[in-house]
Amino acid sequence: MSYSAIDRENKIIEVLQKKGSASIQELAEILKVSTMTIHRDLNKMEHAGYIQKKHGGVILAGKLTAANKHACAMCNKPVSERTIFIVQFENGEQKRACCAHCGLMIQSQSKGAWQSLTADYLHGHVVSANHAIYIFGSDLNVCCVPSILSFGSRQDADKFQKGFGGSLVTMEAAIHRLHGMMHTH
Ligand SMILES: [Zn+2]
Ligand SMILES: [Zn+2]
Repeated sequence: MSYSAIDRENKIIEVLQKKGSASIQELAEILKVSTMTIHRDLNKMEHAGYIQKKHGGVILAGKLTAANKHACAMCNKPVSERTIFIVQFENGEQKRACCAHCGLMIQSQSKGAWQSLTADYLHGHVVSANHAIYIFGSDLNVCCVPSILSFGSRQDADKFQKGFGGSLVTMEAAIHRLHGMMHTH
């Protein structure tokens, strides 16, 4: 029995949704095809924005991960695509947070956090959390307080800040501030 190209793509997505990540070897074994075939499938899928290749393995791209709604791993609030923050672990596990506030808490408190993704508050697309710009403590309390909103570009963050206040910070600085606030209680 062999899978068609479309079946393989669906199967690959299914595997990644279940496991978070997979190696090319693993996928070849699951689908009973050569690693060459998997390579070709993955190239196509990467092009379409479904997956991302990382260190010989593959993960789902933000587009698809953000489509799954779950409760926040920190505070249990429903996760909105607009503010979602996804912490990915080295072992392929993922934790979703309602917003960058919870996401950065999870990330800074867990071992093995490998790469995180966050939704750009203005445009809704998913960006790398490391490279995002955050607005800390704006007047717009969208989710958790103090509010932390993520932006893919500094320009957008600047624009937003002019309207709603708060301060522009990097991921490191946002984590630092969050922890500083907790320790004052
Ligand atoms: Zn939360
Ligand atoms: Zn939140």
